[in-house]
Amino acid sequence: MRARDLIRQATPALEAAGIDTARLDAELLVAHAIGIERSRLFLDDPELDAAQRERAEALLAARAEHRIPVAQLVGAWWFDGHELEVTADVLVPRPETELLVERTAELAPHGAGVIDVGTGSGAIAIALAARRPDLTITASDVSEAALAVARRNAAAVARAERTSSAPPATEEVRSAPWLAPIAFQHASLLGAWRGEVVISNPPYVEDDWRAQASPELAHEPELALYAGADGLDVIRALVAQCAAHAEVALVLLEHGHQQGAAIRDLLAEAGFPDPITEPDLAGHDRMTWARRG
Ligand code: GLN
Repeated sequence: MRARDLIRQATPALEAAGIDTARLDAELLVAHAIGIERSRLFLDDPELDAAQRERAEALLAARAEHRIPVAQLVGAWWFDGHELEVTADVLVPRPETELLVERTAELAPHGAGVIDVGTGSGAIAIALAARRPDLTITASDVSEAALAVARRNAAAVARAERTSSAPPATEEVRSAPWLAPIAFQHASLLGAWRGEVVISNPPYVEDDWRAQASPELAHEPELALYAGADGLDVIRALVAQCAAHAEVALVLLEHGHQQGAAIRDLLAEAGFPDPITEPDLAGHDRMTWARRG
């Protein structure tokens, strides 16, 4: 069977399972089973051998029947232009989280120390390091398993950046690092870190959302998703630590679409006046940031 025929056959099966990205998922899984980039599928339309066919069918079944996220099945996902390793120990990087990176890249003072709390795959820390090589970044997580993924991702992206970049034109650029240095910290919230900028995509889902959550969410780490009855337990504790550390001058937090007002109140009461909430591309409130001093 050729790749295109298998994709044509698999797409309706994934749709029937309730997956709304059926065609894309089928393409990614078939390409992974063959061992090629998705873009090669249509250029080459390769014939699958028996082993590839078997692998593809196993992946498609795991997707349809168990609703395992595609990123976990193929072991990788894209974030802010970087291909990152993804395992069941980390949240699959979401495109809306790029907003947090974009705003931090704009607002962080030159040379600031930045912590990414609950770094997971390292997506935020790594994307920020690539956008702002002047920063000093700490990627922190309570999960050792997640930190291992983040470390591998940072090393892989550092290698890729170095080889894919054109030779620098000037002495000044040549001496600049390609990526901001990233230190890894195994700790809860800020731990022993001291610096100026705190960013986080913390767990913020309400505990009782579990019952209605998409089946994919059940395959992602609970630790990265759920945070008490109102989903604000981790954010409350994090804002309290930010308030207690006098050097912290800028805080940026991702959150649920209904949590903006509560988080603006938390930040304002903690001494970060005039917080600003911003929507994601779907128009949902997704991120709130505030400064002090
Ligand atoms: N945005 C995620 C979701 O889809 C939640 C991520 C988080 O809790 N940090 O549910």
